[in-house]
Amino acid sequence: MLKGKTALVTGSTSGIGLGIAEALAAGGAHIVLNGFGRADDIEALRARLAADHGVTVRYDAADMTQPGEIEAMFKKAIAEFGAVDVLVNNAGIQHVAPIEEFPVEKWNAIIAINLVASFHTIRHALPRMKSRKWGRVINIASAHALVASPYKSAYVAAKHGVAGLTKTVALEVAELGITVNAICPGYVRTPLVEKQIPDTAKARGITEEQVVKDVLLAAQSTKQFVTIDQVASLATYLASDAAASITGAILSVDGGWTAH
Ligand code: NAD
Repeated sequence: MLKGKTALVTGSTSGIGLGIAEALAAGGAHIVLNGFGRADDIEALRARLAADHGVTVRYDAADMTQPGEIEAMFKKAIAEFGAVDVLVNNAGIQHVAPIEEFPVEKWNAIIAINLVASFHTIRHALPRMKSRKWGRVINIASAHALVASPYKSAYVAAKHGVAGLTKTVALEVAELGITVNAICPGYVRTPLVEKQIPDTAKARGITEEQVVKDVLLAAQSTKQFVTIDQVASLATYLASDAAASITGAILSVDGGWTAH
């Protein structure tokens, strides 16, 4: 389905990004992995994906807070593959604290990684997508692109921003064979979610078990975590030719959370 195409997935050394990279590799795309982690773990992952799916897999350590590193990653990917045909903006971090106590450096980092990095990746990817008259931009937003939760001011602001960016760019490139969409997952049990359980317990003065039951899954009507595979399946579909008429869409995969 994606044979001969190249997909770059930011933040793909873990969680949802890794699941999407694996699904796109299974669909035949060459992959640029990105994100942090131990060098030998990342090399093992890179080699496994390449061997399992018979595609070329590269790793780039670009830090999404650094516009110069993002630019260098695109220059390198385009030099090797000719284009980044499928761009998945997935890298993200979270911090949970009341607004007056929200550390300024955490606010800046969340906005930089979860929102500003997508501006940079999109502007570097679009010229080659335009010349090939085909492209897919898939932004991993969140249910928090549509609704808020207390103590997540930076994250909710960034994800609402991603929804606006998605719609705007979709309109700019709509006639050029390029689609731009956002996927809005509810809670998926990844390291990002595991890490915020103790912080949320502290911020709300409740136990970690209560955080899972009464906070994370309270609004998720299915009372189930969304799975990485469910998000990756939608990303793979959006990358396919069958999804050519889906653009500017903010697509929920949230177990009914935002139906409330
Ligand atoms: P995760 O912590 O498992 O993975 C995050 C990835 O981003 C990792 O590969 C990490 O190395 C990378 N990363 C972090 N900072 C980076 C930086 N400065 N530069 C480059 N890479 C960086 O998290 P996840 O849960 O898989 O989240 C992935 C995306 O999905 C995020 O955008 C997140 O907001 C979104 N999301 C997650 C959930 C959830 O419940 N897990 C729900 C909705 C949306």
